[in-house]
Amino acid sequence: QGDEVMKSRDERRPLDVMSIYPRDMNIYGDWGNVLTITRRLTLYGYEPIVHTYNQGDPWPEHVDMILGGGGQDTGQKKIADDFFKRADTLRQLVQEDVPMLMICGMYQLFGEYFETIDGTRLDGIGVFGVYTEGRESRMIGNLVEHSEQFGDVIGYENHSGQTFLREGVQPFGHVDREGWGNNGKDRTEGAIVHNVIGTYMHGPLLPKNPAVADFLIHAAAVHRYGEFQPQQSEEQKAELAHINEIVANARGVAAS
Ligand code: GLN
Repeated sequence: QGDEVMKSRDERRPLDVMSIYPRDMNIYGDWGNVLTITRRLTLYGYEPIVHTYNQGDPWPEHVDMILGGGGQDTGQKKIADDFFKRADTLRQLVQEDVPMLMICGMYQLFGEYFETIDGTRLDGIGVFGVYTEGRESRMIGNLVEHSEQFGDVIGYENHSGQTFLREGVQPFGHVDREGWGNNGKDRTEGAIVHNVIGTYMHGPLLPKNPAVADFLIHAAAVHRYGEFQPQQSEEQKAELAHINEIVANARGVAAS
């Protein structure tokens, strides 16, 4: 058994994680999602390779997961041209079940369009059947939602865009306790299609919601290796359990 662990620890098992447009789309601590993924991947015995992709950069050879953050309307305008050049590649990766997490501003651009408050229409790439309209008042505050897949998900939202789901589109969660969600009216929050999650949750999301982080990790490993197979030392197992315990306690305080 000891030999087995030693042997497997020598095997490199890279997983390529792309942070998309971190220069312009990365607010309210969204980078924390990248940190959580890299830490947990290491503790599961994978080797995270992080690529930061900004407009004009070369596309990495391997992509097993993509993480996108929120941004000001101005940031969304800055990335729009490059984003369109990459739209076919991104849609292809969606079809291949590559897991993605798109927060707020990037969630809006993964939809059909975002019409900003000044009337500018930013086209999205249509991964989600949703559309967004900018409004004067912002939706700001704590967000607690219930997801059938992940249980209670907790975080923080700050957006002026109101997002509406086309018929049949599955929301990421339902806002039944605290927060505005997609539009402040229908109690839906975010959207999910294939292995792509779109959501307004900052916080950042993943440190506080390990079930969501593990979903992304699981899908990334399946994409690259056909299965999710943790190879952990006792120390790594203990550290992951310790992190999960701390998070579980912190969630209790935040959600009560
Ligand atoms: N600019 C967008 C809005 O206000 C997105 C904001 C964000 O990403 N936090 O709706």
